[in-house]
Amino acid sequence: MTRPCRDTLENISAYLDGELDARACEAIEQHSRTCPGCAAFVDGLRQTVGLCRQAANTELPEAVRQRASAAIRQLLDD
Ligand SMILES: [Zn+2]
Repeated sequence: MTRPCRDTLENISAYLDGELDARACEAIEQHSRTCPGCAAFVDGLRQTVGLCRQAANTELPEAVRQRASAAIRQLLDD
């Protein structure tokens, strides 16, 4: 199985914590277009947290944000 890059995981984690702006999020999406591991991960995330577009404008439900953060932490800890 192809894993997402560590950089991507850390960036998305920061994004979920509200520490990354929409432009940085664009960079994540662009990278995922050329990286199969990140593409699969970002795709799955997009469905749950509405990565970039939605999340930039609306508050994520806390439960959703925490679930996504936990999933990312797990991958980072591996
Ligand atoms: Zn990648």
